[in-house]
Amino acid sequence: AAKEAGKHTYRVFSPEMNQKVAKCIWLDTELRRAIEEKQFVLHYQPLINLCTGRLHSVEALLRWQSTSRGLVPPGEFIRFTEESGLIVPIGRWLMQEAVSQAEHWRENGLDIRISINVSARQLRDAEIVNQLRELVERSHSTRTLIDIELTESCFIEDEKAAVELMRQFKQLGARILLDDFGTGYSSLSQLTRLPIDVIKLDRSFITGIDQNFQAQSLVRSVLSLARAFGFTIVAEGVETEREVQFLKDIGVDYAQGFFYARPMAADTFEAWLADKKKLRLIA
Ligand code: C2E
Ligand code: MG
Ligand code: MG
Ligand code: MG
Repeated sequence: AAKEAGKHTYRVFSPEMNQKVAKCIWLDTELRRAIEEKQFVLHYQPLINLCTGRLHSVEALLRWQSTSRGLVPPGEFIRFTEESGLIVPIGRWLMQEAVSQAEHWRENGLDIRISINVSARQLRDAEIVNQLRELVERSHSTRTLIDIELTESCFIEDEKAAVELMRQFKQLGARILLDDFGTGYSSLSQLTRLPIDVIKLDRSFITGIDQNFQAQSLVRSVLSLARAFGFTIVAEGVETEREVQFLKDIGVDYAQGFFYARPMAADTFEAWLADKKKLRLIA
């Protein structure tokens, strides 16, 4: 494009690129302000034990309460914060927030584990695990209620370092969940090298599974291998009763999805839980 524009014109960016750069600068400024002004919130989505129908834990999912754009889902800004490094201060806030929420619930008689999503960028140094260690030391208990969700991308750069951090997390009482399993390239047998406790089967295998024979045999074989290797299985993104029934029948341990509940603000989640208890759906 610069060539076509003529010999004496010096164009660094095309108009589309200019627009992209401008958008990035805007987003960067806005996100920095969001950190300073604490515009982030955590929503909580239940994981349900398929055998008992009881609450197993919740996943903390980040939202940005933007003054100009309203509640922004992570899909619209997480990638950017990973590239710019802003995920590190955001993650620091998030860890603190999840820990205080767990402690608040515990003080009110609710023992609820919270899993948080951690991206590869946050594992580049030990800061994140040191932060959790300090929070555990400061609390009344010796073990954390926080679990860690990682994706396969966390092991690509430096598997040894990532595994070491996972071991340290586990020493604090955290469990390690592998998120979005099936979207990457690892096989279950490769995962036995890693200190993983739980495998979360990606939503793409679960959607419509009651009608999809291929997905059914895939999930069945993942499940039997997972049993052999000692992994617990969570099905992500269950939306219908039929999907739940199928997963229950084949013996999947836990499920998460809109069928049970969407991610909710803490107080909405508390009301949801109280309601379920009233209905005796969850004890
Ligand atoms: P994820 O960790 O796999 O989280 C599950 C996503 O699926 C959530 O989207 C959740 O709202 C959505 N979901 C749950 N059940 C259903 C369902 O039944 N149907 C459908 N269609 N969707 C369902 P969300 O909150 O928009 O988060 C998207 C992704 O953003 C997350 O995927 C995770 O990779 C990332 N993310 C969220 N919070 C954080 C965070 O604090 N840190 C990092 N690094 N990433 C985060
Ligand atoms: Mg997750
Ligand atoms: Mg997931
Ligand atoms: Mg997913």
